Amino acid sequence: MQRILDPGQIEAFGQRAIPRLRLPDRVHVFSRRAERLRELAGHDAIGHTIADYLRLMATVADTQQAALGTFEARLPGAKQIAHAREHGMPLVHSAAFPREKHWRDVLMQLCSAVTRHSDLPERVHAVCERLSHLPPEQMEREADALLSAGSDPVDAASAPLLMAALQVYWVDLSSRLAIGDVATIDVPVVCPACGTWPVASVVRTEPGSQGFRYLHCALCATEWHMVRVTCSHCQSTKGIDYRSIEGGTEAIRAECCESCRTYRKILYQEKDSRVEPVADDLASLALDLLMSEAGYHRASGNPLLWQKGVTTKNT
Ligand code: FE
Ligand code: FE
Repeated sequence: MQRILDPGQIEAFGQRAIPRLRLPDRVHVFSRRAERLRELAGHDAIGHTIADYLRLMATVADTQQAALGTFEARLPGAKQIAHAREHGMPLVHSAAFPREKHWRDVLMQLCSAVTRHSDLPERVHAVCERLSHLPPEQMEREADALLSAGSDPVDAASAPLLMAALQVYWVDLSSRLAIGDVATIDVPVVCPACGTWPVASVVRTEPGSQGFRYLHCALCATEWHMVRVTCSHCQSTKGIDYRSIEGGTEAIRAECCESCRTYRKILYQEKDSRVEPVADDLASLALDLLMSEAGYHRASGNPLLWQKGVTTKNT
């Protein structure tokens, strides 16, 4: 006799079948980003200024990849895992998990790599100089300000390099976590591993994740599943609309929400298998302009481009 499932059972089955989390692949996470940034910098539609910035960020991403293998941060212990699970909290919360000094070493490597970059604008050189000579306590204070644990104002020019160093530290952590140790948290719009806002979302084509939408963490590159046609900021499922640049790529659209009037970009691997959330978001500033003119606010920022009033800080 054929067995008929009721809608509740179908939904439960579907939920089981969808991988809840995709932890970052530490061997390729930043090198893929670097590759994509260079590819996007070569596109005809990209202006010179943005192309130069993308190439500079590609140098940053290459250095991040090289730095990722040079240390191992302390992972959460059994007590921290149990505590996070009990309270439905991010396991390696960016503002609360103890941060060791390795990230500052990465920052120094980034400053030195960026300084060697050809045609470096004088203002970026000055930022590297400043960061290279900061006392450790001040570096920690600025990191706290970026990760929302502190109240110091954020220096917008230094933020991308500080964030890049912190990304390496948090990817090192998240890529070595066991998926089962990362609890389902109470706030589904922030990263379940580190509590940071997503930079964008991706509809994936890989076997096992095919057709599912994942939000991509701006800090630790963990991806978590969220049902499509849902606002990734306020979770409304009504009044969700998609906008794109006329005549531009079909691989990127802005998912905008009538309820909260925010948007976040969504990338489609089926349209372009090489899309990468941080790189493609950075290279599509024209779409941000379009959305701003239409009266929508960005739900959260890009870690490699600090904009006033738009944050990657967690909740
Ligand atoms: Fe994260
Ligand atoms: Fe919304």
